[in-house]
Amino acid sequence: MSALSANLPTHLSEGLPLQVVPNERTRTDAERQQILASPGFGQNFSDHMVVVRWSEGQGWHDARLQAYQPFSLDPAAAVLHYAQEIFEGLKAYYRADGTIATFRPEANAERFNNSARRLAMPELPTEAFVAACDALVLADRDWIPTGGERSLYLRPYMFATEAFLGVRPSKEYVFCVIASPAAGYFGDHVSGVSVYASEDYVRAVPGGTGEAKCGGNYAASLLAQAQAAHEGCDQVVWLDGVERKYVEEMGGMNLFFVYGADPDGVEIVTPDLTGSLLPGITRRSLMEAAGDLGVTAVERKISLQQWREDVVSGAITEVFACGTAAVITPVYTCKARTGDFVIGTEPGPVTMRLRDYLLGVQYGTTDDAHSWIHTIG
Ligand SMILES: *Cc1c(COP(=O)(O)O)cnc(C)c1O
Repeated sequence: MSALSANLPTHLSEGLPLQVVPNERTRTDAERQQILASPGFGQNFSDHMVVVRWSEGQGWHDARLQAYQPFSLDPAAAVLHYAQEIFEGLKAYYRADGTIATFRPEANAERFNNSARRLAMPELPTEAFVAACDALVLADRDWIPTGGERSLYLRPYMFATEAFLGVRPSKEYVFCVIASPAAGYFGDHVSGVSVYASEDYVRAVPGGTGEAKCGGNYAASLLAQAQAAHEGCDQVVWLDGVERKYVEEMGGMNLFFVYGADPDGVEIVTPDLTGSLLPGITRRSLMEAAGDLGVTAVERKISLQQWREDVVSGAITEVFACGTAAVITPVYTCKARTGDFVIGTEPGPVTMRLRDYLLGVQYGTTDDAHSWIHTIG
């Protein structure tokens, strides 16, 4: 097990040493291979986890890389009552040249701290966030599946542990990173989703927590997602919480509307970040790379009615959703009380060009012109 420690950072950041306590009962090679042969998504977890504690007196302390195991939590722990919890999601990849890397982990660290501020939680130095992810990936590198669009999905999160039922920010927290081998979201060919525009429920309101990646937003979304499923749709699309008119995002992904077609020029439009949308790193990456890919990226409001009209007139040629888990997913149909419409029946050329570009950068077959790749080992 000294081989494990040898590769790992000794500190997550200055003054925060990492103690390595190797798992004595790791899964056997055969058990791991069986899981990696068909990893699914979020069902299996690697052999280790990183845990770091925070308390008002000590700040961040007691950083460990240890066996993946249950927490012991006081029944009065604040997170169980008032949902002080935030999370992130990013992936580690085996790249074409045999190196291991993550995609823009500093952006996840920054967003994590923005979420922390909104939920009145302590911030974690960017360096420590990235080092915690790196340490877990290095320790469990054998858990990164290879081939296709496979990856090791990393889930950093933080929750309030103080045993206290009064309503105020907790004085104790745990930061943790776990890892789950993930299959490509789609099998051999990309397929599209049907969406249901929720006119009964909203995800977020101005001044609320829509911009923060917190568990509470997801708890509040489940009923609308169940309604979408009941209506025969794959995903829910959220409208703004004030006018109930403007499209915000889809489930846990941001949306893009493709106007026009090659060679006349293509514009990709995404709802602007009004404070109630989650600022996706995939969204931001597409905005930043659009120019290289011959498309113009624009942020502006788009109403459900405008979406429908522009599909009917042919102005909108493709629609897709984007996020870390499924990268880019075409949207084929939209169902709403005010009328259903069909955008397409197969992945559009712009959707696929952007998708291939992002995957190419991530897996190392396309030049990383924007320096997005963080090499771990
Ligand atoms: C995480 C998330 C996204 C996508 O963000 P990425 O950084 O691109 O993965 C979009 N919407 C919601 C609600 C999210 O939680």
